[in-house]
Amino acid sequence: MATWFSPKVEKRSSGIEGRGLYCTAPIAANEVVVVKGGHVFNRATRDTLAASLGPSEIQIDDDLFIGPKTPAEREASMMCLNHSGEPNVGIRGQITFRAMRDISSGEELTFDYATGDDDDWEMQCQCGAPACRGLVTRQDWRREDIQRQRAGWFSDYLERRVRRSDAAHCA
Ligand SMILES: [Zn+2]
Repeated sequence: MATWFSPKVEKRSSGIEGRGLYCTAPIAANEVVVVKGGHVFNRATRDTLAASLGPSEIQIDDDLFIGPKTPAEREASMMCLNHSGEPNVGIRGQITFRAMRDISSGEELTFDYATGDDDDWEMQCQCGAPACRGLVTRQDWRREDIQRQRAGWFSDYLERRVRRSDAAHCA
């Protein structure tokens, strides 16, 4: 039920926002760094839980999310992965986060929020990366440039939608 963390990562104060997840020993490309844990619930339950827990879940299917259900479970479920326009971690499957490239000790681990969520909120990004998109929305997965850029790193349910929209473009 708790989130699994590689022994090569730790949560600490972030240069991007709040707390982040940091690399404490060299991580090789494709290595598993985090596997998200929690309870599985639908969007209606998520909306109710969010009122007391804040953002603490990730989306794993069209109407399914995984995350904590009580304040006591929150810390053990929180990944503390911040968003970046130049991420070094990506999603494989639904809950597994792997290194997209070799990562050095001291680097903050980040992923592109567009690759996980089909949701209705947006945020002003503070990542500071040259490729920063500025305004990040949970509908960014629909953008063709992002679909190309992040191909293979979307959560499984989005990856399947992206592939379908590819097929639709073929005459
Ligand atoms: Zn950014």
